[in-house]
Amino acid sequence: MSNYKIGTKCVQSGWTPKNGEARVLPIFQSTTFKYEDSDQMGRLFDLEESGYFYTRLQNPTNDCVAAKICDLEGGYAAMLLSSGQAANFYAMFNICNAGDHIVSASTIYGGTFNLFGVTLKKLGIECTFVDPDASEEEINAAFRPNTKALFAETIANPALVVLDVEKFANIAHSHGVPLIVDNTFPTPINLRPIEWGADIVIHSTTKYMDGHATSVGGCIVDSGNFDWDKYADKYPGLTTPDESYHGIVYTEKFGKGAFITKATVQLMRDLGSIPSPFNCFLLNIGLETLHLRVKQHCENAAKVAEYLNNNENVAWVNHAGLPDNKYYSLAQKYMKNGTCGVISFGLKGGRDAAKKFMDNLKLAAIVTHVADARTCVLHPASHTHRQLTDEQLVEAGVQPDLIRFSVGIEDVSDIIADIEQALEKTFA
Ligand code: PLP
Repeated sequence: MSNYKIGTKCVQSGWTPKNGEARVLPIFQSTTFKYEDSDQMGRLFDLEESGYFYTRLQNPTNDCVAAKICDLEGGYAAMLLSSGQAANFYAMFNICNAGDHIVSASTIYGGTFNLFGVTLKKLGIECTFVDPDASEEEINAAFRPNTKALFAETIANPALVVLDVEKFANIAHSHGVPLIVDNTFPTPINLRPIEWGADIVIHSTTKYMDGHATSVGGCIVDSGNFDWDKYADKYPGLTTPDESYHGIVYTEKFGKGAFITKATVQLMRDLGSIPSPFNCFLLNIGLETLHLRVKQHCENAAKVAEYLNNNENVAWVNHAGLPDNKYYSLAQKYMKNGTCGVISFGLKGGRDAAKKFMDNLKLAAIVTHVADARTCVLHPASHTHRQLTDEQLVEAGVQPDLIRFSVGIEDVSDIIADIEQALEKTFA
């Protein structure tokens, strides 16, 4: 659907029914698929023919939804996974072996910070964290001969740092590695990182894409733009024979589809983080209204940020739409129509006031989740990031008093009234 506008793609991309077929994407709730010819099944296993045989590898419902997200991001190929965590892990593990190294922005989601800093380390893959606002020279200094990827979030959770995608893409490419970005918060409605040079885009579809807090999921979209063969020595998994597939060379056989094919037929085969077709069906329903919801989230967030900014009990507000925000000009460059619905702020009275305020909210609920239709709130230092040391908290851009406020799509006057009554009780 490449010529349609993004709103049309949200509604219609992925599933195009033929004459007499279901109008709505069907749920192919089947683990397996039937063949009448044993040789054909053999050819599928050899990757000589494409077709479905086992849902751990591919499923028609899942593939249609992956195709929709791929279309929204302007990618070449995509795959769905059971969570955003799995998506980030697969994206790295697809090109890194023990003894390799990656560079990542330090201001990333706490779970990803742990994944890279602790779990990948156990597998022999080291990560150097860099301040995304550091100069090119400083970030360049983190690279080593065995560095295989540069990673960052386009809008960091919860620090809300706006990434200079072009700067990061230039740095990555000057070292002959792909830029992998997690685009969960802006979504392709507000930012399409491939257009600015990113090579691989990750989503926790759990957030705005699903949008209703019903299904955990992840997605990897490959632009198909990174030339693995040019750096063949660095990426032997893609450019030399895979013994587990009779010596197939992914770049030779699948060209621009090499990265996603390998992640599907090798990593998904061996590690099995597949989402259920039912969850993918729900994700697709969410995607059908993504363009409408993201617009409303952004409009509401801008009004809430302005309200907080003018409140005497609020110490600071972080929202890239506010003209005095550090990231205002980057946000204007990359996300003219808005950033996301998540804002953060601190109260005069610090950590204790933050807890009191949250306990006094009525409409906004304290939940771990972020970025769905309902307004919700979280104190990262006590919740999602509680496993980080104070030093790591600062590195991740999380002040101890930071309240992460995920503005929903309710009527914004009710959201502001809720904040107002909670502030009044907190500071009574
Ligand atoms: N990336 C970002 C930016 C996130 O906010 C999260 C979760 O909050 C993840 C990845 C992990 O995704 P999931 O919870 O779907 O595993």
